[in-house]
Amino acid sequence: MNQITFLNGLTLAPSKIIGVGRNYDEHIREMQSSRTKEPVLFLKPNSALHDISKPIPIPKDLGSVHHEIELAVCIAKTCSKIFADEAPEYTLGYGLALDLTLRDIQSKAKKDGLPWALAKGFDHSCPVSQFVTKDKIQNVDDLNLLLKVNGVVKQNGNTCNMIFKTGELIAYISRFFTLYEGDIILTGTPSGVGPIKERDKLEATIDQISSIQTIIV
Ligand code: MG
Repeated sequence: MNQITFLNGLTLAPSKIIGVGRNYDEHIREMQSSRTKEPVLFLKPNSALHDISKPIPIPKDLGSVHHEIELAVCIAKTCSKIFADEAPEYTLGYGLALDLTLRDIQSKAKKDGLPWALAKGFDHSCPVSQFVTKDKIQNVDDLNLLLKVNGVVKQNGNTCNMIFKTGELIAYISRFFTLYEGDIILTGTPSGVGPIKERDKLEATIDQISSIQTIIV
């Protein structure tokens, strides 16, 4: 099983990664999608995890691969059917994640009314930084996210623009999935998503959490 690490040395093996789609209005607009009453969820397996500081291998023959920078939440302990105001108790910390997406495959799946499993869950589709414990973060609902590709700013957002906040997401997800210590929630991406290719240099920052440089291979 792949593990995630915290700055304080703690390591955990997430049983699952739950992704949230359509959580920023500007991203919904750029995808020509529409807002939903409830969060849109998908899963990535543990095998999708990858250390973001190491070169990121992407599929070469499956169409376009898009970057999506996202705040990742790590769960502290088993929870099921909790209320949003209980979420802090079940939150261990935060990380920086890329929700890599096979966009051509996803677009076709959407058109055909089919699931996103292949588009979202492939190997290395979830590069993550080291995580920091929640006490290091002043306000999780006000964090800048910045992604540059080859020195050009592509995504520049703030978690204040999330439609469903982290507590609401944890509560909603826990209605359907029992969450375990180490499980990860990807909270959605701001606008500016686009393709990446071999040899692209990525710089990704979420204030107070992580600032990394990496390369696509
Ligand atoms: Mg995403």
